[in-house]
Amino acid sequence: MGIISSCCSHDASVEAEENKSTMKKEPSPTKADATEMAVPPAASREKERMVEKSAKVTASGSEYEITLDKSTGKRLGIDVDHKDGKTLLIECINEGLVKDWNDTAPDETKAWALVVSADPVAELSAAVLHAGLRAEVVAPATALSCIGRLPGRLAVVLAQSPEKDFLRTLRRGHGQVFTIAMDEAFARCPASRLAAFDAGARMVTSSVAAVREALAKVSAVFSSAGPFACTACGLGPLSENALHLHMHFHHAVDAVPEDSCPICAERPSNLAVHLHNSHGPPTEREPPRAPYATFAWCVCRRLDGRFLLVNEPSGIAGGRPNFWLPAGRVDRGESLQEACRREALEEAGISVKVTGLLRLMVDSHQTLRAVFLAEPEDDAHAEPKSVPDWESVGAMWAEVADIQKLKESDFRNPDPQELYPKVASGSLKPQPVDTKEFVALEALIRRLTAGDRKAPRELEGLWRSVQAAYPPAVFTRA
Ligand SMILES: [Zn+2]
Ligand SMILES: [Zn+2]
Repeated sequence: MGIISSCCSHDASVEAEENKSTMKKEPSPTKADATEMAVPPAASREKERMVEKSAKVTASGSEYEITLDKSTGKRLGIDVDHKDGKTLLIECINEGLVKDWNDTAPDETKAWALVVSADPVAELSAAVLHAGLRAEVVAPATALSCIGRLPGRLAVVLAQSPEKDFLRTLRRGHGQVFTIAMDEAFARCPASRLAAFDAGARMVTSSVAAVREALAKVSAVFSSAGPFACTACGLGPLSENALHLHMHFHHAVDAVPEDSCPICAERPSNLAVHLHNSHGPPTEREPPRAPYATFAWCVCRRLDGRFLLVNEPSGIAGGRPNFWLPAGRVDRGESLQEACRREALEEAGISVKVTGLLRLMVDSHQTLRAVFLAEPEDDAHAEPKSVPDWESVGAMWAEVADIQKLKESDFRNPDPQELYPKVASGSLKPQPVDTKEFVALEALIRRLTAGDRKAPRELEGLWRSVQAAYPPAVFTRA
């Protein structure tokens, strides 16, 4: 078995592993949807809200009829001019009922969040308000009927134990709305996580902290101003940075649109990759690729025996946020184990330590993939991420039995179904990573990925010593 000793390999599997694959197009929301979203709140909704504030209001277009209650003896607090005998010009608003109304009435320009829940949702409502959004709470039974009268600045829907019809209708007809499905089951059951994404959720979580983080992103996008609009959902106007954030946060569950770049008008082969690496904050773009292609995979198991699964972005996972394991290309100057740890943190939000080597796989292009066994650095605080971004749509800890129940089509590639049960049963045993041969290989990988021109000459001999130091079962073809 050989291993490549030249520079950068560009086979199809390498491209896919780097999120560079060609992505299929799905229908985008129509312009009619955007028009519908611009309709102001219906009179009944406006009235309900005002009654809660002890004042009666009916709305028609932008005209409001407001009844202020003076029975408390408080003054209106306005200076008026009625000299022309026809109009009542308000010259000044002082302390009083009118000022109270102005201070407490809802701001129609503010984005709001619909919280769908049968239970008290104090934590969720607090998270919505913390993000600077207005909260509206409705019962699941009435949620579907609310869709027809959604206001234009609806930013997010939080649904506990969400109704699938509700999420599906929103995803189809209201593509600008960020839908979060929240349920305790999503922390444990991989099938229910995928079902929630299938139903239309853009984020699936069991964590209020993750909801707060997501709402801050929603708020940042909605409050931005700039000359751009998202080509996938029409949301705008957006600044360059807001569009950069929006694309991978909001559309991680969608196929990548095959459109021109709304910022520079280029027509890239992959708009999502182009937006990520050519625009937005330079610090958030991918670093230049290492000149030597090699990959690290992370099989991470926690103390209770559950394994880490990642929901991959739909654009590289068959049009759906299918499962895989944390994995990726080794960056410039990195070792294989450093790449393994970085990918687990980026794709799953878990800091891990490598505990062993499971496989060294070489594909038909002689590209090396190292599969490591790892565990959380802090098992008691190992909450996987669930806010979508460039790296993934989220992650979870899953029982081997539940992973085995999934269909092959539920994975980007069914490697977890092959690897995890073998690790759990002990039939695939971790090998040490502190042998002098593997330590030497890691040192050479650093030099190769850093572009050291002398390093390739040393690889063939070192690879033979690594092969002699480990059992043949470690070396499999990818
Ligand atoms: Zn969009
Ligand atoms: Zn561009």
